[in-house]
Amino acid sequence: MTRESRETMTSSTEGGTSSAPAEIPLVDYLALEPAPHLVANRCRQCGARFFDRRNACAKCFGTEFDSVDIATEGTVRTFSIVMVAAPGVEVPYVPAVVDCDGTSVRANLVNIEPTSDRVKPGLKVRLTTFPIGADATGSVGVGFGFEPIGA
Ligand SMILES: [Zn+2]
Repeated sequence: MTRESRETMTSSTEGGTSSAPAEIPLVDYLALEPAPHLVANRCRQCGARFFDRRNACAKCFGTEFDSVDIATEGTVRTFSIVMVAAPGVEVPYVPAVVDCDGTSVRANLVNIEPTSDRVKPGLKVRLTTFPIGADATGSVGVGFGFEPIGA
């Protein structure tokens, strides 16, 4: 079975009359309103959760999904501290798997010193968003990561 991973750059043409620059989530499972949170597709049959769009559940082959909001706070399960990356990629950075109330979320840890003294499995973190640049129309891309609670 081939794993289908489509990264579509959705060009949101949501018409708004406000003059403020539009904020466009970097990934389509990041919702910004009313407060930033992640939205997963939950299999109606077995409850498995996926962030990408699927035609069928990887666990039970069910084909019906509901959208569910994911908890914005979680616990670091595993992480890496990346010191070397492709040119243009800022290092170090800390990709991690965060357990958000039973749902595993892959994201970078931010607003934390990237050392093994600070980053530990079991660390309590919360979702945070940040601008990642504007396009020619002034629309601002919004990315997300997790930061330590109490930072
Ligand atoms: Zn399923």
